[in-house]
Amino acid sequence: MSDIVKYRCKRCQGQTRHQELFRKDQDLSGEGAYHVIRYDLVECLGCENIRFFKSSYSSDGEFDENGNIIPDVELYPPDTLRKQPKWMSSLLWPFDPDLGSANQEIIDLINEIYIALQNGISRLAIMGIRALVETIMIKKVGDHNAFSKNMDRFQEGGYISPTQREALDAVLEAGHATIHRAYRPSAQQVQAAIDIVENIIEAIYVSDQNRKRFSDVPKRGS
Ligand SMILES: [Zn+2]
Repeated sequence: MSDIVKYRCKRCQGQTRHQELFRKDQDLSGEGAYHVIRYDLVECLGCENIRFFKSSYSSDGEFDENGNIIPDVELYPPDTLRKQPKWMSSLLWPFDPDLGSANQEIIDLINEIYIALQNGISRLAIMGIRALVETIMIKKVGDHNAFSKNMDRFQEGGYISPTQREALDAVLEAGHATIHRAYRPSAQQVQAAIDIVENIIEAIYVSDQNRKRFSDVPKRGS
């Protein structure tokens, strides 16, 4: 197949020519309703990036001004909403050759949260963010058997400022509401939540490592 179509390529940053590698249409029409699912495998002719489109054309859906069906399109891999912070690799330290990274649980949770974020699974993302906060708190101040008590110890220990505490309380409340009160956070709320938590992780884990790089600076008066 040699159809050339234009799609937006995330890697090339714009509309580029794509080559159709494979297409299959599945006709699910019936009872006077039109419904076709089109599967496309396309390759960007700029960077050779390959993506998969699943487009659903349904007479029950929306139409453009020319009366053509506007397809519902799913894309894989999805457009990445945000990149992981550049300090992720420094979380690997301290690293034990036998036991691995001391922060492996935190790294795994962040990776899973990003998978949920990138696939628009906002409820699982916010639950993951809540689990991430709990994991960090317990690692730093131990488990006091209640979220609020852990948070109090966390703040008393100087890991977060009163302002960060307020922001974190809002994130945890959103997580709690998602789990217990059928709440569905918006994509923007999930983004704000991960912003807050990443700032705290950076301050606790990464800035501390950076501070240690200055440990050999001679003290004043010495
Ligand atoms: Zn490209």
